[in-house]
Amino acid sequence: MSAQIIDGKAIAQKVKQEVAEAVARRVAAGKSRPGLATVLVGDRVDSATYVRSKQKACEELGMVSFSHHLPADATQEQVEGLVRELNADRRVHGILVQLPLPPHLNEERILQAISIEKDVDGFHPVNIGRLAQKGREPLFIPCTPNGCLYLLEQSGVPIEGAHAVVLGRSNIVGMPAALLLIGKNATVTVCHSRTRDLPAIIRQADILIAAIGKAEFVRGDWVKPGAAVIDVGINSKPDPNAPKGYRLVGDVHFDEVKEVAGWITPVPGGVGPMTIAMLMKNTLRAAELQEP
Ligand code: NDP
Repeated sequence: MSAQIIDGKAIAQKVKQEVAEAVARRVAAGKSRPGLATVLVGDRVDSATYVRSKQKACEELGMVSFSHHLPADATQEQVEGLVRELNADRRVHGILVQLPLPPHLNEERILQAISIEKDVDGFHPVNIGRLAQKGREPLFIPCTPNGCLYLLEQSGVPIEGAHAVVLGRSNIVGMPAALLLIGKNATVTVCHSRTRDLPAIIRQADILIAAIGKAEFVRGDWVKPGAAVIDVGINSKPDPNAPKGYRLVGDVHFDEVKEVAGWITPVPGGVGPMTIAMLMKNTLRAAELQEP
């Protein structure tokens, strides 16, 4: 039996529509438009593409975006100085520093400089710390893992009591995804590059979140029949038949796994659109917190 395909694009569109309606109501009530400042340091093509799509989403939803681009050799003081200016700017409700930063910069200090009320990516140590503690509420939850949980919930996947396996332990996806699942009362196993016998662990998963950045890594016979599989990976795979000579694939071998799983997200069109939708939701929330 083939898995139910979770349509991230459609679910994200619905979230964005709700955000656009709430923005319109705010503006009609005489309040400011939510504003998102993006900070891009350097010239990574992928980072520039992600930032552009975030700015475009702001415009579509009636929000304002403020774009800041610093050179690859920007100093720590320049980046932190810009963040402090944005903290003080009342038109800016959310600040997004696009990661990864060039290696000479201290990422932790820069993320810590963002005012937690404007931390729409949810990466400030205080927000992450609250996510990790029982009974504490972060102001903002990181967008990609929050999008993964939203897809599971919207698809009716039971989370409480389920065994969830998270493949990857990065600060931006794997670890916060694991914390969110624990918060929803799943029993969570986190796997990484030193984990032994991954297939045996993955076979136990009722829910699998794959976020390692390895094309089509998870095979069909590793997956428990009926499991919910959320594929975060974005990898390019050479394909002479594709117009660009490559196509995007996830960390999961989609064609094999869809024959075994109960639910699966496609790549593209699964988690990717949710990340932006959740960022828009967080930016609206930031505006509502700062100017109720
Ligand atoms: P990172 O490179 O920061 O982390 C990768 C993680 O995977 C690490 O924890 C690493 O383990 C683990 N890992 C790597 N190789 C293996 C392996 N062979 N077996 C088991 N674990 C392994 O990646 P990110 O978390 O930033 O991103 C993961 C993927 O998600 C990428 O493809 C990225 O493009 C995508 N992504 C998609 C987003 C979206 O919006 N859809 C947003 C963000 C990321 P260790 O810790 O031991 O090194």
